[in-house]
Amino acid sequence: MDHLFSPQLYQKIARNAAHIDHEGCFPEQEFKLFAEAGLLEIVLPSNSLDFEKHKNQGLLTLLKTIGKASLPVGRIYEGHINALFLVYLFGKTEQKQRWFADVILGKKMFSVWNTQDSEGVRIYDLGNGKYRLQGCKTFCSGASRIARPLVTGELVSAKKKGWQMCIIPTEQVKEIKVDNSFWKPLGMRASASFRMDFSGIEISESDLLGAPDAYYQQPYFSGGAIRFAAVQLGGAEALFEETHTFLKGLKRTDDTFQRARIAEIAYLIETGNLWIKQAGLKTDSTTENTDSIAQLLAYVNMTRTIIEEICLRCMQLAERSIGARGLMRPNPMERIHRDLTTYLRQPAPDATLTAIGEYVLKQESTKGIWDNIAKKSL
Ligand SMILES: Cc1cc2nc3c(=O)[nH]c(=O)nc-3n(C[C@H](O)[C@H](O)[C@H](O)COP(=O)(O)OP(=O)(O)OC[C@H]3O[C@@H](n4cnc5c(N)ncnc54)[C@H](O)[C@@H]3O)c2cc1C
Repeated sequence: MDHLFSPQLYQKIARNAAHIDHEGCFPEQEFKLFAEAGLLEIVLPSNSLDFEKHKNQGLLTLLKTIGKASLPVGRIYEGHINALFLVYLFGKTEQKQRWFADVILGKKMFSVWNTQDSEGVRIYDLGNGKYRLQGCKTFCSGASRIARPLVTGELVSAKKKGWQMCIIPTEQVKEIKVDNSFWKPLGMRASASFRMDFSGIEISESDLLGAPDAYYQQPYFSGGAIRFAAVQLGGAEALFEETHTFLKGLKRTDDTFQRARIAEIAYLIETGNLWIKQAGLKTDSTTENTDSIAQLLAYVNMTRTIIEEICLRCMQLAERSIGARGLMRPNPMERIHRDLTTYLRQPAPDATLTAIGEYVLKQESTKGIWDNIAKKSL
């Protein structure tokens, strides 16, 4: 596992983060390095973070480390891992062999593209095992650099209905139309999260992943939030480090207010680390029991919510500590702040918070409310 955390790799990525910070850019060099380091297949069978081995803690630490070096790289990598997890969960034996070989031998990148606007994707059953896609996805991280995008859409078929996953073999179908004019973000520019139009793309039965609505199966659907939370916390850790360096550089370390602010950032980051660690443990030890799943989901929702709060507060404290001159390029704080602000916007934050409240108020009492899953992990 140690080779995964070789500081040189992440230093290289952090050093290049400013160069890739523009719209239309994709972190080519970074993913070449990841491919060479074996990071693309790290969660596949017989690799060190093999999903089968329930190594969520290690995976979250890896995601956080990448996020600390570059949030856009972390976002794209997280999407790759998310897609491989869905293949691991729902792929048939032949599909797993094919898609895992695409990663191991072809060094192909995967991603999950689910977000859409009113022109969302429909997957029409044409008969004879053929399907045609119609419609667009928004926020497609990695865009055309992703050789195996996992796309979701409404299945339109006489035989079955629901939210269907498919993985598009991009080099075997007609070109997917890219609309990069969609992507004019505050931060996360290098995540290349464009709008993509799948209209007219034809795929076959063997490209469909899982049954309709498998995508929403819990605890996997909401449980994945700990992965983006880990990447986000990496961004806050980068701010912590940069604030520390900045204050030392200006010899502003004796000031009481600066000490108070860095103290708060330090304990907030450590709080985030404890949450991520515990959420990883709980994920690894959860069972298929309905109560266990419900508790895990509430715990993951809490983790995601508190990590957002921690990141927001750390950004505010860091801003106040470094002042306007620290928020100017080439100081990396300017970019990290923009990236983290953008990346913190994840689906349904309000619904996530109220779901925690709903879970808590459904319990008989608050006694030992988060206990049972933790006990199983001992
Ligand atoms: C850098 C980046 C990369 C991304 N990459 C991908 C990707 O590769 N694949 C992918 O599928 N997605 C991706 N996304 C999209 C992401 O998963 C979220 O779906 C998206 O960021 C949420 O957008 P939003 O904040 O505009 O959401 P909104 O849903 O509009 O939420 C904004 C606010 O409105 C509230 N709200 C939501 N619904 C309602 C409602 N009905 N009534 C009232 N209030 C409501 C929310 O709680 C929140 O407070 C990416 C996003 C970013 C920022």
